[in-house]
Amino acid sequence: MHFHAMPSFLHPTSLLLTLTLMSILTYSPNSLSPSLLTHPISTHLRFDPLFISAASSDFGGIIHSPPSAVFLPSSPSDIASLLRLSHSSPHSFPVAARGLGHSTHGQAQTPSGIIINMSSLDVGIAVSTDSMFVDAGGGQTWINVLRESLRYGLTPKSWTDYLYLTVGGTLSNGGISGQAFLHGPQISNVYEMDIVTGKGEMVTCSESLNSDLFFSVLGGLGQFGIITRARIALEKAPRSVRWMRLMYTDFEVFTNDQELLISIKAEKDKGWRLGYVEGSLLMEHSFRTNWRSPFFSEKDVKRIRKLASGNGGVIYCLEASFYYGYGAADDARMDQGIGDLLKKLNFVSGFAFRNDVSYMKFLNRVHEGELKLRAMGLWDVPHPWLNLFVSKSNILDFHNGVFKGIMKANTTMGPILVYPTKRSKWNERMSTAIPDEEVFYSIGILLSSERNDLESLKNQNAKILNFCDQLGMNYKQYLPHYTTREGWMRHFGKKWKRFVEMKNKYDPKAILSPGQQIFSHPIDVHCLS
Ligand code: FAD
Repeated sequence: MHFHAMPSFLHPTSLLLTLTLMSILTYSPNSLSPSLLTHPISTHLRFDPLFISAASSDFGGIIHSPPSAVFLPSSPSDIASLLRLSHSSPHSFPVAARGLGHSTHGQAQTPSGIIINMSSLDVGIAVSTDSMFVDAGGGQTWINVLRESLRYGLTPKSWTDYLYLTVGGTLSNGGISGQAFLHGPQISNVYEMDIVTGKGEMVTCSESLNSDLFFSVLGGLGQFGIITRARIALEKAPRSVRWMRLMYTDFEVFTNDQELLISIKAEKDKGWRLGYVEGSLLMEHSFRTNWRSPFFSEKDVKRIRKLASGNGGVIYCLEASFYYGYGAADDARMDQGIGDLLKKLNFVSGFAFRNDVSYMKFLNRVHEGELKLRAMGLWDVPHPWLNLFVSKSNILDFHNGVFKGIMKANTTMGPILVYPTKRSKWNERMSTAIPDEEVFYSIGILLSSERNDLESLKNQNAKILNFCDQLGMNYKQYLPHYTTREGWMRHFGKKWKRFVEMKNKYDPKAILSPGQQIFSHPIDVHCLS
């Protein structure tokens, strides 16, 4: 395990050029308060353009706001000193933790404030095999948490599709993927956390200790404190995964089968189990580059494309993965069991595809796509993503109005994910807002702007949200982006009052994560009344 003190984009080849530029350009720290600049922790501040520019943008590539400085903490107490200083100063300064900046709308940015580069924090990863948990620093990536856990034959239970995200970043949102129907999101799988609050207090919290802080921070969009360590539940890791993709021409049949799969009760000790259910919409043009994995042969792609073109340009792909290799192999029983299950599903005959891969390869599948897109220069482009949770009772209307309506003529690249999950796997006290219905769908419209189409994609997102509002749909934004108080109040609904109370308790000067645009800095007292 190693810790970075440099922004992740720093390439050895560009180092020379960068150093030359740095000697020419130096940012002025004038905008910072003298109490900070003269404090011993100021040695952790960086003002040079390399750090400033890395912290001024994010994966979305839409919002760009330079901070005054980047803070490289070694320890949680460095973070506590910084926040205490801001909190106690009459001119408090805004501070945002930055995981790896995979946000899409500036949520990890702070115009003219201080960015904390979480990857420089010296809190590592430690597995407890007896108690089946892993302690991980808030700036650690999930890929490293996985690698370390697998050394002991163990694994976290719940994932995101992409693993180069940080523990603190996903726990501030939710962390959801195809395992969530079984285990809940990542925030449902945390035992304990160390937090530095907006007042600079260092607090350990769990369900039974400082539980108001614990639940507020989970999905709390970085508003209450900075996660410096999280204790995450582990289970025995499978060796392999049978990864299936099944094609459908009818959306209702597709969602019925997804819902059937997530209703299956978890069975123990049969040597294999259903571990993951997702799904996506495939449009004819999706096959130009299928960035999620090299799953299909050329011949398969031709057949699937033909199926799509005969179906108005759209088909649906159900993705189900069966985990196996827990001990003594009984492949024949597994084949039989999976075969029996598939017989209950109604995919298009002859359109079931199978891939047996290692557990690591399965979980790390998006990284392969990332490498391809990077090679084509298509990774560092704007990503006006829209993520929604839509209740089961609205999913058909959503399909007809959005996929078959608003997005019909869309030929933009990027996956469109659609899969169901269960509300009962989320704890009501966690901050993340979810629809008020047991089964709801996670929708990811994950488009990239390749040409000059950013404005039209943003307009499309606005139309989709407007459509959901007009129909009075029971939905929530995931990785939400609102710019008005009314928007946030509606988003949090009955959780809003508590959210504000907790803000007042743990970050009363609204120092933390101002890029979420929930509270103004300094805090607007009206929102607290
Ligand atoms: P950042 O973007 O750096 O930060 C996010 C927010 O959390 C900011 O407000 C920041 O201030 C705050 N924050 C960061 N670290 C901390 C901390 N230690 N303590 C307190 N607050 C903190 N999400 C899913 O749920 N499922 C997916 O399958 C999924 N797939 C993705 C695939 C890709 C390719 C990308 C780019 C993103 C994906 N995401 C997914 C979204 C991801 O969860 C968010 O981008 C999330 O913000 C994590 O990114 P990050 O670690 O870089 O955090």
